[in-house]
Amino acid sequence: MAEILDGKAVSKKIKENLKKEVENLKQKGIFPKLAVIMVGDNSSSKIYVRNKSIACKEVGIEYEEYLLDEKIKMDELLDLINKLNQDDSIDGILLQSPIPKGLDINVAFKTIDPKKDVDGFNPCNVGKLCLGQDSFISCTPYGIIKLLEEYDIKIEGKDAVVVGRSNIVGKPMMQCLLNRNATVTICHSKTIKLERVTKKADILVVAVGKPKFINKDMVKEGAIVIDVGINRGEDGKICGDVDYDEVSQIASYITPVPGGVGPMTVAMLMNNIVRAAKMKEKDKR
Ligand code: NDP
Repeated sequence: MAEILDGKAVSKKIKENLKKEVENLKQKGIFPKLAVIMVGDNSSSKIYVRNKSIACKEVGIEYEEYLLDEKIKMDELLDLINKLNQDDSIDGILLQSPIPKGLDINVAFKTIDPKKDVDGFNPCNVGKLCLGQDSFISCTPYGIIKLLEEYDIKIEGKDAVVVGRSNIVGKPMMQCLLNRNATVTICHSKTIKLERVTKKADILVVAVGKPKFINKDMVKEGAIVIDVGINRGEDGKICGDVDYDEVSQIASYITPVPGGVGPMTVAMLMNNIVRAAKMKEKDKR
């Protein structure tokens, strides 16, 4: 039976440490602050944004929310981002995805000041990650790396397989694992005989968005299995992309859903905001 990678417990520890750090910063007159922009009325986004606001409160980070109408024009969205870029009291800017189809999220991400890009989606930060340079790293992959580190799981030399190639999870995940000297394969919807590839993985990261997509026949005995997926199963309950009951029988480590990758993502966002606040202060000196 696999050992559970307890993202909830690890994220709690990270947030407690950050809380102490924020208290120290406040004594020096530094008040870390996040601005969140949400466009339109998406029920999943509302839950994610709410979780982020709760975490900010726990850690002591100031929080501001901008709820924009779904009919907003691109220029208006960019004007708001530019205003927040200029606002010295804001350390981090987060644009919650998805945004309505008529708006270009890539242009919006590009407009966020790289120094306030706490989600790590500005091409400048993505490029730095690819070059192995210090950058803001997208919170989900970063959280997964921290979780593996917390459990002393060695990445170097491992065969890692990432299923899913989205810009927010799959691609930065691949890069994070490569930067830590894993041998990485990335799979997607056009991959032929997926199980042939996933079965070779020492570390298997799944970010597909399909409930219980990975079954035990697709996983190597003893593999470390990271389930990024957040889906609503047929029973109405939240479930991952991995069939937990089956795969936990043969994996060595596994993340549960909920309680695995999700809380780590939020914790790393908090980490990135505190870091942005410290960087801003350093730049002033
Ligand atoms: P996307 O829909 O952007 O990407 C899904 C990826 O899965 C694509 O690359 C797609 O391939 C691939 N895929 C689809 N079908 C198959 C298939 N049959 N075989 C192999 N690959 C396939 O999703 P995201 O990356 O944004 O999110 C993935 C999941 O993770 C979702 O459930 C989401 O809710 C969750 N999530 C969880 C987070 C957390 O904090 N826990 C954070 C972000 C996301 P192709 O590119 O060819 O279309």
